[in-house]
Amino acid sequence: MITEVLSANQLKKEAPVFGQLSFNDHEQVVFCHDKDTGLKAIIGVHNTTLGPALGGTRMYNYATEWDALNDVLRLSRGMTYKAAITGLNLGGGKAVIIGDPKTMKTPDLMRRFGAFVNTLGGTYYTAEDVGMETSDMDTVREVTPYVTGISESKGGAGNPSPVTAYGVYMGMKASAKFVYGNDQLEGKKILIEGIGHVGEELVRLASEEGAQVVIGDINKDRLEVVSAKYGADIYKGKDLYTETADIYAPCALGATINNETIDKLNVKIIAGAANNQLANESIHGIRLQEKGIVYAPDFLINAGGIINVYAEIEGYGRDQIMKKTENIYNTTLDILHKAKATTMTTNAAALSIAEERIAAGKKQ
Ligand code: NAD
Repeated sequence: MITEVLSANQLKKEAPVFGQLSFNDHEQVVFCHDKDTGLKAIIGVHNTTLGPALGGTRMYNYATEWDALNDVLRLSRGMTYKAAITGLNLGGGKAVIIGDPKTMKTPDLMRRFGAFVNTLGGTYYTAEDVGMETSDMDTVREVTPYVTGISESKGGAGNPSPVTAYGVYMGMKASAKFVYGNDQLEGKKILIEGIGHVGEELVRLASEEGAQVVIGDINKDRLEVVSAKYGADIYKGKDLYTETADIYAPCALGATINNETIDKLNVKIIAGAANNQLANESIHGIRLQEKGIVYAPDFLINAGGIINVYAEIEGYGRDQIMKKTENIYNTTLDILHKAKATTMTTNAAALSIAEERIAAGKKQ
């Protein structure tokens, strides 16, 4: 099937696999298939210089298998930089399972996936991502120790999403401080796109601080529920990207800052949870800079989740998790100032710091 997809895509077929743009010197890419359960998964191990590759498993109904491969390559690379900039001794990895989690996810499929993770012998640790629940990680734990994000009752650090949201909130406040001179979100209009596990918690935090929160999601039922719970306004317009606001928080899927949306954006700050928000890091990073929009790098401010699951490996507790996550505020401010001083984009400034840490790790 992969061969069919690749051959159907002229561009990808003509380029050598190792030379593809998204293939960024990945150490290992593993294709996992199980006929009985229908499992089709890809594990990307990007870099293990600083430690074992850790990153969640995303289950998604990808339009093509090529899209799934591209996603896992981009996401696993992002994890390397996320761990490095957060000061964790971890490498970057990620996994994707192809299919609709609502209809295809079964305990047998999750166990089979876990067995594949186990074959990597600890080079890769998995966790939850879009389409996964803590209970799925508990199922994976039945067949491999190389899984984090399991239930607290089973010795894990529990659901990482609230911690991720707290880190995004810290990054958002730091960005507000940088732009407005103070970090108060009260009275600020915040557009939150995607109100799932992370987005909903971010709605809560921002609403409690008195922000004017506007929410968008493809799931209409969730919009009603979350709006009723926190008094957030539901976005009723035709194109969310044209809405004027102080802050846009992408908390659905990645690449929402792209050729089609970038000229419409009418916000001062972008700070959200989604991974790989910039469809093209250099092109769209520079365009945001030209437009005077402050972009809080995703892999920096959404690191709360990885801090939470890392606690399971290192054995530290809740206080330290929250302290490390709170520090995202300081790191974000430092990077925004560094970018301003050097005229680098904020994304490039964050990447350069992460790369310095990896290079130092290589020398040891
Ligand atoms: P989730 O699946 O719980 O929520 C995603 C939400 O986005 C859902 O409500 C879904 O309906 C909505 N959505 C999907 N496509 C959409 C679209 N085109 N437009 C509007 N809404 C759309 O996922 P989550 O765990 O909340 O994660 C959100 C994002 O944050 C993901 O990109 C994820 O990779 C990233 N992230 C999550 C964590 C974590 O701890 N969960 C950590 C780091 C990064």
